[in-house]
Amino acid sequence: MENIRIKDGHFIFGGCDVVELVRRYGTPLYVISEEVIKRKCSEIREKFLCKYKNTRAAYASKAFLNPAMCKIIEREGLDLDVVSGGELYTAIRAEFPMEKVFFHGNNKTIDELKMAIKNDVGRIVVDNLYEIELIDKISKEYGKKARLLYRITPGVESKTHRYISTGQVDSKFGIPLAGNIIFEAVEKGIKCENVNLLGFHFHVGSQLFDNRSYLNAVDVVTRLMKDVKERYGFITKELNTGGGYGIYYFKGDKPKPIDYFIDAIMDKIYKRCSEFGLEIPTVVIEPGRWIIGEAGITLYTIGFIKEIPGVRTYVSIDGGMTDNPRPALYGAKYEALIANKVDSEKNKLVTIAGKCCESGDILIWNLRVPKVASGDILAVLNTGAYNYSMANNYNKTPRPAVVLVNEGKSEIIVERETYDDLLMRCRVPEYLK
Ligand SMILES: *Cc1c(COP(=O)(O)O)cnc(C)c1O
Repeated sequence: MENIRIKDGHFIFGGCDVVELVRRYGTPLYVISEEVIKRKCSEIREKFLCKYKNTRAAYASKAFLNPAMCKIIEREGLDLDVVSGGELYTAIRAEFPMEKVFFHGNNKTIDELKMAIKNDVGRIVVDNLYEIELIDKISKEYGKKARLLYRITPGVESKTHRYISTGQVDSKFGIPLAGNIIFEAVEKGIKCENVNLLGFHFHVGSQLFDNRSYLNAVDVVTRLMKDVKERYGFITKELNTGGGYGIYYFKGDKPKPIDYFIDAIMDKIYKRCSEFGLEIPTVVIEPGRWIIGEAGITLYTIGFIKEIPGVRTYVSIDGGMTDNPRPALYGAKYEALIANKVDSEKNKLVTIAGKCCESGDILIWNLRVPKVASGDILAVLNTGAYNYSMANNYNKTPRPAVVLVNEGKSEIIVERETYDDLLMRCRVPEYLK
């Protein structure tokens, strides 16, 4: 909140007066700062890619993806994670270099695998044994040799919401280490002629402020690397350590600098590899939220204000759980400000209510604001990650536009949906007409 730019009482974001953006593009509106994305990527280059050799950084695109974002990530020299056919298709259409794409997912369909293999996707991150067989078969059909990493479940707990914790034993993600399942998978990977197993992947969770679960996972995975070398002579060429670095959303969040994670992870990998006599693999990281979260804000117009004397004041906005499902989904908290009254004294406590027909559609409980009126503009901060990408059409709500801002310039990168867009796929059977 401290480094907010203000001019004439208006919030300035990416060099643009957000009140002006609202006049031009309407609300609700996602606004993404190109400068922030570039700053984050350059920090990754400096503190990881240039600092350590044989490293790759993939942007986890599920946080925020569209063709313009693919172009920015490509220019910044990062790789790209996708987790579905739709995300892969977006990368293909944006002509993102396919060898730099990692394809994830805990239940990839046959069609998705076909699309990935046909297009020579850089890595398929395999989640289970069934998938290995499918990939082998499809690769053979297309005369390809798919490059694989195995996602393991490292069996480590992370301190985060259980909906975004992924590394624990009881998880839908990854190949379990227990019961020799992983050895069976490695054997299969070595035997299958149409795949090339390169190494392992783990992702312990999301929005993490502590590096311990990463280090525990490195302990687990390097032991596995040692075991498979001894058993099969298998050399791990690549180790992907996932994403999950936490960012600031709300007071009390204490994000650590990225080198707090990276240096500790690299140090641990080097130590363990030397201890076990293993070659240092290529190391990959996959930040999503960390790159895009702070680059985004969402703008809303305030509508009805309902004061229930002695109880609470509800301030209603023209969006809510359709454009930002995270508060309703897992109690995520956000900071916000009245964008046209930024330097007014904040002397009221209000609750920001969305417009969906759900009592759970509350964006922010107990937000301190100046005296507000209908027509004021609310800016919710740090909404770049998992907002646009999680947006939905509940209550037949069209999804907002996305505007890219940089040094005072603004460009639409995703058009606002229309009512006709909402009905485009609907059909009425003849007999009902
Ligand atoms: C979601 C995800 C990430 C990114 O998580 P963030 O918290 O956005 O950094 C990275 N890797 C995998 C496999 C993921 O599923």
